[in-house]
Amino acid sequence: MLGLLGVFSCTEAKPAPPAAPVVVIGIDGLEPALIAELIDAGRLPNLAKFAERGVLGRLASMIPTYSPVIWTSIATGQAPSEHGITFFHDEGNRPYTSNTRKVPALWNIVSDAGLKVNCVGWWNTWPAESINGKMLSTYAAQAQASVIWKPGVWEELEGLTWPPTLMDEIQSEMIFVSDAERVRDLLWSRFPEPRDQDPTTEQRDLDPVMTKSVTDLGWSLSADLSNTAVAVYLQGKYSADLSMIYLSMPDVAGHRFWSYHEPEAFHFELREPAKADFAEYIRLAYVEADRQLGELLASLPANANVLVLSDHGMHAWEESIDDPEAGTTGHHPAGPPGIFGAMGPQISARGNLLSDATKGRLGNVLEVAPLVLRLLGLPLPEHWPALRGAVELDQVLDESWRRANAAVRAPNTDGDFRPATPARLPRENLDEDFRQSFSALGYTLGDEAREESEKAIEEQSGEADD
Ligand SMILES: [Zn+2]
Repeated sequence: MLGLLGVFSCTEAKPAPPAAPVVVIGIDGLEPALIAELIDAGRLPNLAKFAERGVLGRLASMIPTYSPVIWTSIATGQAPSEHGITFFHDEGNRPYTSNTRKVPALWNIVSDAGLKVNCVGWWNTWPAESINGKMLSTYAAQAQASVIWKPGVWEELEGLTWPPTLMDEIQSEMIFVSDAERVRDLLWSRFPEPRDQDPTTEQRDLDPVMTKSVTDLGWSLSADLSNTAVAVYLQGKYSADLSMIYLSMPDVAGHRFWSYHEPEAFHFELREPAKADFAEYIRLAYVEADRQLGELLASLPANANVLVLSDHGMHAWEESIDDPEAGTTGHHPAGPPGIFGAMGPQISARGNLLSDATKGRLGNVLEVAPLVLRLLGLPLPEHWPALRGAVELDQVLDESWRRANAAVRAPNTDGDFRPATPARLPRENLDEDFRQSFSALGYTLGDEAREESEKAIEEQSGEADD
């Protein structure tokens, strides 16, 4: 067996088709402790399937926890210093775009190996790259809904999909934030509609902070429903060896509503009726993400190996505990672990390890890409940082499959990848719209913040080298 693998690794021969398709579902900001609680309460039946049929535990995160940085690390298997997406935007305040990435992502690697890829909503994928499959790209996932998910923009903006003609097929699946009435209906069918701040008046106006929070929830729900619908559509029409999809709402809800979710962690009294109205919002956002997960699972072939993961967890934000006016009350600056679940024919059935302090840690974010390639029967680029030691995340693999299918290494071919070019702007002034969206989420943008992020990355890579 080893001999055969050795031959395979040094020839140009096409890989054997993978034993089973692989599906990666990324859900931003799911907190493991809250997942454990809601599974125990029977409120996340689809995440519970991973615990029942496969394994569910925690995934170590990284610092900084900025979404473009982590989600690109997950997709490339490489550190930010290598893939080049080190913050939300570059030195010119332009959000990073797909052409700024210095190394291939899974969708490039898997396409180049002759396998099919579907990718929906992953961070920093606009403009959509030419792949062997289908892609709905995003400019900046969470911010884009309020920025470019407007039908008018869709009609004029190039590069949202690969191939370009895919856009005509999927546009009817999209829920545009400009369709305010529809978005409100969708929101109030999932979350209790906030009552008057002052129950003695007829006015239904929330204070500006909560108005913004509810608006953010609306666009992240629209974006996630659209991504889910497109992923289900692609799954039905274009089978793929690798499918990847990204959902954002649990992170947005966590940032916005943590003080209502865990009022005892904050040093101020929440006002009624908002206190009662918003108390369940984060749990309901998790329930909705689980419902979307169920739709995705129902669309998959029975033999798929499915991975579900969050990039980090979430908790009450220390910097806001004394501030009753804070718009951001949940955060994750220190990189608390996210979740990792896996199930499928090549996955070991180890159950729910979320509350097991030692066995519950299944691996880290840089080990996801090697696991995906291994499941697809593709060689692992030998320079990937996760391969410096044993790949902890391989423990989710079925033991006998793991022994029979040893990981094969491939030489570093990143030098053959197209050169990185400066960030593109989808349309004029979009960088300003983007900056406003993100400032409102509680992130500080600008040169100083970017330099700090890059310093944190440098320090972390220094530690890894020691
Ligand atoms: Zn976040």
